[in-house]
Amino acid sequence: MTPPLDLRHDQSLRTLNTFGIDAKAAAYVRIRSVDDLRAVRADAALSAMPRLVLGGGSNLLLTRDFDYLVLHMVNRGITLSGEDDDHLLVTAQAGESWHGFVQWTLAQGLPGLENLSLIPGSVGAAPIQNIGAYGSELADYFHSLQAFDFASGEVLELGRRDCAFGYRDSVFKHALRDRAVILAVRFALPKRWQPNLRYAELAAEIAARGITQPTARDISDAVIAIRQRKLPDPAVIGNAGSFFKNPVVPAAQRDALLQQHPGLVSYAQPDGQYKLAAGWLIDRCGWKGRSLGAAGVHEKQALVLVNRGGASGAEILQLADRIRADVLAAYGVAIEPEPVIL
Ligand SMILES: Cc1cc2nc3c(=O)[nH]c(=O)nc-3n(C[C@H](O)[C@H](O)[C@H](O)COP(=O)(O)OP(=O)(O)OC[C@H]3O[C@@H](n4cnc5c(N)ncnc54)[C@H](O)[C@@H]3O)c2cc1C
Repeated sequence: MTPPLDLRHDQSLRTLNTFGIDAKAAAYVRIRSVDDLRAVRADAALSAMPRLVLGGGSNLLLTRDFDYLVLHMVNRGITLSGEDDDHLLVTAQAGESWHGFVQWTLAQGLPGLENLSLIPGSVGAAPIQNIGAYGSELADYFHSLQAFDFASGEVLELGRRDCAFGYRDSVFKHALRDRAVILAVRFALPKRWQPNLRYAELAAEIAARGITQPTARDISDAVIAIRQRKLPDPAVIGNAGSFFKNPVVPAAQRDALLQQHPGLVSYAQPDGQYKLAAGWLIDRCGWKGRSLGAAGVHEKQALVLVNRGGASGAEILQLADRIRADVLAAYGVAIEPEPVIL
């Protein structure tokens, strides 16, 4: 028999978002399996409420108390789920910790996800913005996923094409937004693995460690070390990682900017456009290390906004808006926030 819903009202989300913002949700349910989602959908009052699916709360900015129903994904489990000639398939439930899952794969001798070590949050949220770091992204190792469709009540099986992955983007931010709850994600991990050292800082870290033939474990350790040096730990100071996406601009615009600002940091994209380093733009506007009240810009990493203690989500949003306006005025480039803002 299905256990009754674990439902609470007026739930504080302070410990459930990495900014540490004290916002309340009108209703909150822990989702342990698809049966809980079916029960929510069958309940007239709950199904009429606007919904927020919550994983680790590490890509969210909560700017107010809200009349939402929060569906907190806590379903767990990892299984080896098949193979083809080139890959082993592994399936993880949405409520698993992403980093815990990556470490599990490495402990089983399954390389592939090591460059994505120590990204906070859950497995279920990883496809939403196609998480990426250190020269790798989720889409590189994605096989398929299962999602509960609130519109039809069906469980959908979606492949790579259906998910329309892009830079920090997927179908879940567009056509399936507010509709699909990801239940589990299946990964295709390579049987013939090659280290991915395309990211210069990672290659330098491996070289500095005197390693010439790195294992996946070596790469994971190096990524963890770099991230711990560069990024603030949300357990110590509230943040959601990079607050802005790197803007992608046409080559002509990048060339014109480069003429005016020879230090501009940019990366060529496969489609001929250029990705600009948003952190460089923000730094040059003088924001690194500055604060507006308790909302601040991290001292070492201008892309990261932090809660220096007791900041409201609205204050952090105000700071973000000031930064965006300054970057637009100085460079003519619009930078967009990465986290979901509610
Ligand atoms: C210190 C730090 C460093 C970070 N570094 C990186 C990085 O290197 N690369 C990177 O890409 N990101 C990075 N992030 C951002 C964040 O870790 C990722 O976006 C992560 O995938 C968010 O997972 P979450 O479970 O916390 O999602 P949440 O914040 O809980 O949710 C984010 C969005 O996903 C939706 N969602 C969550 N779970 C589901 C589900 N099961 N089904 C449907 N929708 C769902 C939510 O509704 C929301 O819209 C960083 C964050 C921090 C705090």
